[in-house]
Amino acid sequence: MLQSKLFYKTSKEVSVEEKSVNAQLLTRAGFIDKLMAGVYTFLPLGFKVYKKIENIIREEINAVGGQEILMPALHPKEPWETTGRWAAVREMFKTKSQTGGDYGLGWTHEEIVTPLAKKFFNSYKDFPFALYQIQTKFRDELRVKSGLLRGREFAMKDLYSFHTNEKDLDNYYEKVKEAYFKIFNRVGLGQRTYLTFASGGAFSKYSHEFQTVTPAGEDIIYLCDKCKIAVNKEIIGESKESCVQCGNKNLKEEKAIEVGNIFKLKDKFTKAFGYNFKDKDGKEKQVIMGCYGIGLGRVMGAVVEVYHDKDGIIWPPEIAPYNVHLIALKSGDDSLDKKIEKKTFDLYESLQKKGIEVLYDDRQEVSAGVKLKESDLIGIPVRLIISEKTVVKDSAEFKKRDSKDAELVKINKIAKLLNG
Ligand code: ATP
Ligand code: MG
Repeated sequence: MLQSKLFYKTSKEVSVEEKSVNAQLLTRAGFIDKLMAGVYTFLPLGFKVYKKIENIIREEINAVGGQEILMPALHPKEPWETTGRWAAVREMFKTKSQTGGDYGLGWTHEEIVTPLAKKFFNSYKDFPFALYQIQTKFRDELRVKSGLLRGREFAMKDLYSFHTNEKDLDNYYEKVKEAYFKIFNRVGLGQRTYLTFASGGAFSKYSHEFQTVTPAGEDIIYLCDKCKIAVNKEIIGESKESCVQCGNKNLKEEKAIEVGNIFKLKDKFTKAFGYNFKDKDGKEKQVIMGCYGIGLGRVMGAVVEVYHDKDGIIWPPEIAPYNVHLIALKSGDDSLDKKIEKKTFDLYESLQKKGIEVLYDDRQEVSAGVKLKESDLIGIPVRLIISEKTVVKDSAEFKKRDSKDAELVKINKIAKLLNG
């Protein structure tokens, strides 16, 4: 991508009400634009990151047998009345049609997916199966001061699994847990994300959250350094904190962001919708369910909260908008500048041919200082500079965003270094 054509604009400051680090940096670097509190546009740079997160999630959920579907965001009232959540859930946005009917905007999809599954699969032979979508949710959240961490409109991956018995649900639940660890490792949050025991409500003793430790977190967790798991303060209270696995009383209190959760719903929704299956013995029995969520924007926001410095964002390689930020710096000498431009453009093309994604800062009228500042702000993992100093040696300056050291690398060695 030529930076001269990229739809973005960096800024030094953002509005004072934008308090969170993720919204500040993502806005200043031109990744997102705020429409109103809790509602953002993803600009080209931001959308590239979003798509990479989406694809990682898709790959790992496909790998545990999830089948992707896309359910509507606009819902009728009736299934929500069946479960009692139409009246009970204040976060649900509700709207009236001009013809008088009541509709709601989906903030989760148990009320849609359960009747859907019931329509299609009813024999023990059909089970187990799992359906998921990556789709927009709407929630009338009270506190929307955390940028992408808490939106009123946001993308979620929601997976629902259907089983004929608890053992099967338990097995699948463990598989999804592993898939979640893979996902959080790949997006770069693995080191700081802990399986956290949280309240399971009426159906099971615990549910599990995946909590990323950072000062920006809204949740408080107690972390066991031995087991590398945590418990959420909400369920255990401050008084009797101890590790649910080893009993360790020496837990570390941390702020954390819930980036995902997994939940055994058991028969909560299948009972409400009368979803049974016909077993081998010909008898009708209750289907049971699990549900599993990850917020895409919340993951992106959490990554920025964890990976930044005073100069800007530091993207983990697998979700960076580009692999390389290639920058041409002018010398002031016309013939030398032509050479710099040609070398840089040739490198841009050859890297792209090798499948490396390059943002090429080809802008003519922009100073070296501004180019370098913007590069740090945007946070692409590798920066390559071709300038007067490097071009005479047929080289480029190679620097990683998370390192202070730069080195001169021969241009014909760069692709290998990047793919290495
Ligand atoms: P929280 O306690 O933070 O409000 P939740 O319990 O309401 O989260 P779920 O309904 O289980 O969350 O949603 C599944 C996932 O969707 C969460 O783990 C989180 O990653 C994401 N998520 C939930 N609410 C939001 C939101 N308002 N904005 C962005 N992502 C969200
Ligand atoms: Mg919530």
